Amino acid sequence: MVLTKLVKKERRAQVLKSPAFGCFKGIPAVNVTRGCPHACVYCYARGFPEAPPRGEVHLYANLPEMLERELARKRKLPAWVSFSTASDPFPPVDEVLAVTYRAMKLLLERGIGISFLTKGFVPPDFVALFQKYRHLVRARIGLVSLCPDYRKTFEPGAASPWKRLLNIRNLVGAGVTTGVRIDPLIPGFAGSAEALESLFKRLRAAGAKEVSVNTLVLRPAVAEQLAAELPPELAGMIFRHYRGQPWQKVITAAKTKLLPRAARETQYLLSKEVAHRYGLNCRICGCKNPDLPWESCDPGVIQENRASMVRAEQCTLFDVLADPSAR
Ligand code: SF4
Repeated sequence: MVLTKLVKKERRAQVLKSPAFGCFKGIPAVNVTRGCPHACVYCYARGFPEAPPRGEVHLYANLPEMLERELARKRKLPAWVSFSTASDPFPPVDEVLAVTYRAMKLLLERGIGISFLTKGFVPPDFVALFQKYRHLVRARIGLVSLCPDYRKTFEPGAASPWKRLLNIRNLVGAGVTTGVRIDPLIPGFAGSAEALESLFKRLRAAGAKEVSVNTLVLRPAVAEQLAAELPPELAGMIFRHYRGQPWQKVITAAKTKLLPRAARETQYLLSKEVAHRYGLNCRICGCKNPDLPWESCDPGVIQENRASMVRAEQCTLFDVLADPSAR
């Protein structure tokens, strides 16, 4: 864990935020913390102007109370809520886990589905909660490589690959729909045929059926982090793959560099081939590959969210037809 200071904060701003990008469009997001002790060197959220310094995490200790009040004021509850878009809900910090648990329980008890992405370890009390509400939970486990050196170098505070495999086993065992996010594949350090074979074999053994894949997207802040936190020769090896690539707008980021299209196509084709051999359905992140045929890496929440929005619109229409005064 890369945590030197946990600062408890009073949350004053709205808790449920609706990101307007990609697969998250229309799904409110909750971040229990600002900052993340996993401190991944490629994390774009660390480059946000409001992000705390490395090693410092701000915990919104009053978030469950705020969330409860906010939900009570809503005329229509959201169908799904996403944890977390700029932090991780399961860092190895008891105070953070306690707030995450209360917030998730509160939502599930009101029939609101939750989706989360984590590189941490999901503790047993959460698994028991998710088992009770399994039809309302969509889990995604971030795991790119089984190599301990990869974690040490690129995700120094994240849970070990073996703990993340255990997450998959536990969540699948609890009946929770669980996908695996293999993102970012860092060119030269992950994604070889041998590494994918070994990874997919273990994912399958743990019970996974779905994986989504994406290569590293460089933003200026991410490039600065790589240059500052990696040994210079490692950072240089990564940057060489992006040399000559234009800065372009991808999702909401105005300045990003993608790996050359041919390199991405080769990587994705290989990933799909190996995944297929292990009976895994492999999707490519469409948002981060706007120049390739669109694929959604959504594990089902988006379709369900859209369906519930359509149902809500239909209900509103029927209400209006039945009671024209409602117009
Ligand atoms: S786990 Fe996610 S939020 Fe946390 S540092 Fe890594 S990429 Fe960023």
